[in-house]
Amino acid sequence: MTGPLSQKLFAAAKEKIPGGVNSPVRAFRNVGGEPFFVRRAKGSRIEDVDGKTYIDYIGSWGPNILGHAPAVITNTIHEVAKDGISFGIPNPYEVEMARTITDWVPSVEKVRMCSSGTEATMSAIRLARGFTKRDYIVKFDGCYHGHSDSLLVAAGSGALTHGEPDSAGVPKSFAEKTIVLPYNDVEALEKLFAEQGEQIAAIIVESYPANAGLVFPRPGYLDLLSSITKKHGALLIFDEVMTGFRLGKAGVQGIENLTPDLSCFGKVIGGGLPVGAFGGRADVMDMLAPIGPVYQAGTLSGNPLAMAAGLAQLKQLAGTGGEGAPNGFTRLEQLGAHFESGLRSLLDGKGLPYRFNRTGSMFCLYFTDREIVNVDDVIKQDLELFKKFFWGCLDKGIYLAPSPYETGFLSLAHTEADLDDTLTVFDEVLSTI
Ligand code: PLP
Repeated sequence: MTGPLSQKLFAAAKEKIPGGVNSPVRAFRNVGGEPFFVRRAKGSRIEDVDGKTYIDYIGSWGPNILGHAPAVITNTIHEVAKDGISFGIPNPYEVEMARTITDWVPSVEKVRMCSSGTEATMSAIRLARGFTKRDYIVKFDGCYHGHSDSLLVAAGSGALTHGEPDSAGVPKSFAEKTIVLPYNDVEALEKLFAEQGEQIAAIIVESYPANAGLVFPRPGYLDLLSSITKKHGALLIFDEVMTGFRLGKAGVQGIENLTPDLSCFGKVIGGGLPVGAFGGRADVMDMLAPIGPVYQAGTLSGNPLAMAAGLAQLKQLAGTGGEGAPNGFTRLEQLGAHFESGLRSLLDGKGLPYRFNRTGSMFCLYFTDREIVNVDDVIKQDLELFKKFFWGCLDKGIYLAPSPYETGFLSLAHTEADLDDTLTVFDEVLSTI
């Protein structure tokens, strides 16, 4: 149950905004209830309009890796805004951002900024089609790449509970050019490329799928995606919108030692402001307008506030917190490991079937004893138990994603004490449901 002011605002919102929200998952429909409205957020905490505070494990769905409203970002935004908010002509922050991304991610030789992850993946797909002069793309069941027409097919996240396999309004003829495969299925991939490999422009994959919970590739699977695309003259596009700059300087491709042809980014690189980016091989990127035939543009692309906020966030992440202190990524792994060991001993003690997938600061708890290989396993978890768990936690001041298909996020503002308090709540809630 949310507070009276949240209820009043939601009623008013529903009159003027479809479903009362500007993005479907926020409506809490997957957990059967109504959302609370936020008044402010700072560090690891969010406060709703009724004055209740929560330890937050969403972090605005990924961007807020330093926590909410860190001074390093708010001060930067104040300073930069004094000189202007948007110019529509190049500014120096764009160059620094491009240098930073290409320095941190070796596969990215050139990069183009845009305003959302959706724009990044949509543009990367168009570029891959333009470069290869082929029409078909391959994606995986349960992977979400934003809401452009070609990619809103068998998508995860909000689309997974949307009730239709694809969105209404996507022409069949578009969807037909998107081939969907089960994730982690080597046989299906090899069969498709043996039959149709020369027609495929690209494979797009969430580097670690994180919109159907959190799913990991089986050993060798990502290498296979790389070799099979190379063999057939297709491109490999890594969607690192969620994992990029969160799991390390070079994201999953750094961890797995892979070199995709193109990569997509967003979330963390905007410091909480609207941002996206796609980049990769220079010969592919140079197909973009104004020097190549593939058109792509944006009024607010490379916006100075978003660039400066993102740069401030990246510097803070890579830097250390003082002499002998770990950098941000190492610290996030420490926090993640602390959370995981506490959670495992708690749940093992309860004798409940569960799976807990975690990498660094990303995690997902599933109420199931199935091995999580792909989206088929994800949807077979105990959804009713999840709902009860979600509401029990929210009631006690812990805000988890309002859907069993979302990944949770830790930030550098979380402390071991926050995590221990959260586990105490988990214990209390699990004892009563
Ligand atoms: N790709 C991935 C992996 C995502 O998780 C998301 C959003 O959650 C997107 C693309 C779309 O990004 P945006 O919501 O900024 O359009």
